Amino acid sequence: MKFIFADSLDMVDPAYDFIQDRNGKDREGYWDDLYPHEILGYAPYDGMLVSRGIVGDHRISGKYTEAQAQRFRRVGARTFLRLNKPQFQKLAIFGDCGAFTYVNEDKPPYTPGNMIEFYAEGGFSHGCSVDHIIFEFNRELTGMEGGSADARYRFDITLENAATFIRESQHLSKQFTPLGVVQGWSPDSMAEAAYRLVRMGYRYLALGGMVPLKAEDIRRCLAAVRDRVPADTKLHILGFAKADEIESFLPFQLTSFDTTSPLIRAFKDNRNNYYLPAENGKLKYFSAIRVPQALDNLRLKRLVQKGHFRTEDLLKLEAKALQYLRAFDDGEAELQPTLEAVLTYNSLIATEKPYEDVRSSPRMTTLASLYQRTLSEKPWKACSCAICRMASIEIIIFRASNRNKRRGMHNLAVYKRLIDRINNQEAKNEAINLYGYPCAAEC
Ligand SMILES: [Zn+2]
Repeated sequence: MKFIFADSLDMVDPAYDFIQDRNGKDREGYWDDLYPHEILGYAPYDGMLVSRGIVGDHRISGKYTEAQAQRFRRVGARTFLRLNKPQFQKLAIFGDCGAFTYVNEDKPPYTPGNMIEFYAEGGFSHGCSVDHIIFEFNRELTGMEGGSADARYRFDITLENAATFIRESQHLSKQFTPLGVVQGWSPDSMAEAAYRLVRMGYRYLALGGMVPLKAEDIRRCLAAVRDRVPADTKLHILGFAKADEIESFLPFQLTSFDTTSPLIRAFKDNRNNYYLPAENGKLKYFSAIRVPQALDNLRLKRLVQKGHFRTEDLLKLEAKALQYLRAFDDGEAELQPTLEAVLTYNSLIATEKPYEDVRSSPRMTTLASLYQRTLSEKPWKACSCAICRMASIEIIIFRASNRNKRRGMHNLAVYKRLIDRINNQEAKNEAINLYGYPCAAEC
């Protein structure tokens, strides 16, 4: 099972100065910043996915600047992502159409031919057919029942595009693998789409529209699809937001999935921001400690504008929290005063009130217990990745992109170890099944 990281130009400045909170001298964004596989010294994934929506084009502006988008098409994905070194040659490069960018349009703005050109120019190893997302979903429907007129229209367009895509992609190099995208409004309608894609000749299918679905619904779709396609059909999940629950998906024999989840949770999740391997082989999570930049934080700015606090007082509280955290990391401050300094600053962001007034509020007691656990267990000291060794306690501080993304990249590394462990275990189980015990027929 391959873990494909969906890139969104997630990079960090290796020369970032944590004490001054500023970038390295003369930094030039893309050229000086590092991808996760560069800062860690190895790839914490089996491949990367680049969505056309992230690159952008004449129709939509993506995450890339115009110059970056042009360079991407000129030099190809592997060089652009700086995966053109011998140690990264085996990494897959997946592409998709970024169907979320045109979800509200009547039909996809790209023809299969447009996308084939994009994949060919980018030198992609895997590319998805042109789909149109169906957002309605009803797990109870069976067969081809249900499905609004719009859902059925999108279902048909996705399949028509897939038929053209596989035919026209045949002239691409043998290194290219086309993926047929499955869209549907119920597990059975997805299974029907999968069945038709296999009949068109696809050997690798990608399930789309999974982002808003509950884990249980994704499992139902996979079960229905697995039932209708040959056992050797490869399955991929596009935008797999439930990546942390991967073990419950093992029975469906996924070949791959793409996600940004371990990176994003470092700064979007309310409490689970820093990953470590747990004793049971799974993952355990810690809350990052919020110390936002007083001058950049909108909430704090508002408090100053309203006249509730003075900027200089906020700056003092911010500096004190950082000072205590660094001293704590060096063994020069105790846990309780460190926690107190952090919570005194946090209460202004969390409740807009001085800590003395809200100390026993549910919000602050929850934060206190989350931070207490993080500080007492010091998880950043337990990790030997290049990022944690360099950043030490800065990695657990929730503050601006360079810390937050480093934490996300560390999470990718921990997550990749989980996937490697699962793959090793699966390989062992397979060996036992093949050689360890006689099969039922022989008994
Ligand atoms: Zn680490």
